[in-house]
Amino acid sequence: MHTCAIRSVLISGGGIAGATLAHWLLRFGFKLTVVEQAKGQRSSGNVVDIRGPALPIVRSMGLLSALRKFATRATGAEIVDSSGARIAGMPGPNATRAGSEDEIEVTRADLASVLLRSCDGAEMIFGESITELSQDAGGVDVRIGSGTERRFDLLIGADGLHSITRRLIFGNSEQFVRQLGMYVGTLACPELDLDTMAVQLYNAPGRLVAIHPGRDTPGAAFIFRHHEIRDLDHRDTQHHRKLIMTTYAGDGWRVPELLDHVRNTDDLYFDAVSRVRLPRWSRGRVALVGDAASCVSVLGDGSTKAIAGAYTLAKELAGTDDHEVAFRRYQDRHKRLISSPASVWLGSSFLVPATGFGITMRNRLLRLIAR
Ligand SMILES: Cc1cc2nc3c(=O)[nH]c(=O)nc-3n(C[C@H](O)[C@H](O)[C@H](O)COP(=O)(O)OP(=O)(O)OC[C@H]3O[C@@H](n4cnc5c(N)ncnc54)[C@H](O)[C@@H]3O)c2cc1C
Repeated sequence: MHTCAIRSVLISGGGIAGATLAHWLLRFGFKLTVVEQAKGQRSSGNVVDIRGPALPIVRSMGLLSALRKFATRATGAEIVDSSGARIAGMPGPNATRAGSEDEIEVTRADLASVLLRSCDGAEMIFGESITELSQDAGGVDVRIGSGTERRFDLLIGADGLHSITRRLIFGNSEQFVRQLGMYVGTLACPELDLDTMAVQLYNAPGRLVAIHPGRDTPGAAFIFRHHEIRDLDHRDTQHHRKLIMTTYAGDGWRVPELLDHVRNTDDLYFDAVSRVRLPRWSRGRVALVGDAASCVSVLGDGSTKAIAGAYTLAKELAGTDDHEVAFRRYQDRHKRLISSPASVWLGSSFLVPATGFGITMRNRLLRLIAR
């Protein structure tokens, strides 16, 4: 329990980092308000892994068994060719290590709701966003939506890749967010027939399509290389549909069937795979956590890092009366977990080889490893 002068904290964003931070700050005796833009829980089928430093944290939050109940049923992964025949296999989190404690794969939506349900005592404001902020030596004033003005001791931006908090304190995203030449679309496909519980991956040069069995509902993911799309609006679903349809037109395997799902879904997630990098994660009484502060989206183990970063920040805030000291210590400690460009390059080359030659070599390597 903290005994310091910091009492009220506003968290912008009730996703993975925001909910984890709220949980721990409540435990440490802070007064919490969370503003979450989404009105309800959406699921566009994407799955995330909780592993490494995040596992002991969710365990001490008392959430391990709840999360295990939501674990996907995937039994590994296999690369398939255009006729659906298996080319090579890879073990998955719930296959080789079933029952062990070193990795849990869940949908992002399930993870966020389990975390949010553990924030009893926080004031939750759904369907809103902060729109303005200013700060002085004693606190942070924010406007929520177009109306309410409120004052808090601290504001933490846990509002993801397109963070409004980051924009309000540091300015436009272009300085800090770099697209990495890959795009990702995901969607749930409830009516998809599956004859395997393995994740199936199909590659064409520069393109990947994956079908994931999920827990109850299968999902599909499209990840492809593309020159930078400068005017990409992550909310413009019609544009996203068109990009996916055009990019994958004429591809084999179950792609035509999956494109029908893309055409008909009203819940398509789409974004650029991006790197967020800022020299400082805080200014005055405002700090950033999760993807808002630093990430390689989709490929960078973001959920695990969001949980770990939120916990580190909460602990540092509880450990001192001086928020600036806490913010500095949090950044110093957490930045060690940030993915190196080399590991991201390796991961993306493996998942989405750019050429036919690259696909062949990757498959050969997988077959060799499997022997
Ligand atoms: C397709 C895909 C696959 C992925 N695979 C993995 C994986 O295998 N392993 C892994 O660890 N990670 C993976 N990730 C990444 C992971 O989902 C993120 O890194 C993680 O969710 C980051 O947590 P966060 O809390 O920072 O952001 P988010 O979970 O994105 O949460 C941000 C929250 O802020 C809210 N918000 C946004 N703007 C505002 C606003 N203006 N006002 C209020 N609220 C706002 C959003 O609605 C959201 O709830 C994947 C992501 C995608 C998209």
